[in-house]
Amino acid sequence: MTDFSKFNSLISLVRHFNSEDKCRKTIRQQRWSDGIVCPYCGSVHCYERSDGRFICKDCESSFSELVGTIFENTKLPLVKWFMAMYLISSHKKGISSLQLAHDIHVTQKTAWFMLHKIRTLYAKDKSMLHGDVECDETYIGGKETNKHESKKTAGNQGRSTKTKSGVFGMVERNSGNIAAMRIPDSKANTLTGIINLYVKAGSRIFTDEYIGYHSLKDSERYEHFTVNHKDKEFVRDDSHTNTIEGFWGQLKRMIMGVYHFVSAKYLQRYIDEAVFRYNTCRNDEGDRFKRMFDRSIGVVSYKCVRMVA
Ligand SMILES: [Zn+2]
Repeated sequence: MTDFSKFNSLISLVRHFNSEDKCRKTIRQQRWSDGIVCPYCGSVHCYERSDGRFICKDCESSFSELVGTIFENTKLPLVKWFMAMYLISSHKKGISSLQLAHDIHVTQKTAWFMLHKIRTLYAKDKSMLHGDVECDETYIGGKETNKHESKKTAGNQGRSTKTKSGVFGMVERNSGNIAAMRIPDSKANTLTGIINLYVKAGSRIFTDEYIGYHSLKDSERYEHFTVNHKDKEFVRDDSHTNTIEGFWGQLKRMIMGVYHFVSAKYLQRYIDEAVFRYNTCRNDEGDRFKRMFDRSIGVVSYKCVRMVA
């Protein structure tokens, strides 16, 4: 099996994956560590043909190790995909399509396509949160953002989604794990619905005093603590939302600083990218690449919950 921890630089990655054959072999090993499984019928009665393709004895399909992965039907060398995954996961603030095109010698259009395809892998990074969990919403896009107007100074007017997209986030204080998603509105039912889906019962929830969170006060599922931002009261004992505010800062810096503009259509993918980066900030490069690699070939070894928005 490949030791992914040795990939501590792009050079070490390219040195290892020095041929298309080596890339394919690694995909086979990681994907079918317990034996070949037919991607069409799930049968384990498969064998390798002399030309390198695989045959299922049950449904008689022939397939390659790339079927069902993000690399299926690609015309690009696999090592360029691996380099792209490595670069996107190791750049702390993300990487633009222009930069990626330059780094791996493809056109900007191809780099844009690769980045978007790779971003779909981040959506798998969802797990239940528990313990002390901060919840908050923010708004991205529109002229208001340029004016650096936040909901903290604008009050409820800042929650308008006419020109901006709403994003809801939850962070588990102990582990720093985050879940975040686009929201259609900031109504109480929307916010508490997401909290119920992502935060385990018995947790302590910390929010600001926005009316959308008021129903949590009577919740039997959670203990609810608030901080009043309007009165400049940002920290009252452990009643604060500083952790999630820190994540909003990172998300906005990534979107404004690297990507400059993000359409509402693709916003969720950028949120997922920022969440992945935040959740793996304590991991080393090799481990982050391994996580991306496993997802790219459809191996997900941790608990996932359904996306809601
Ligand atoms: Zn089959």
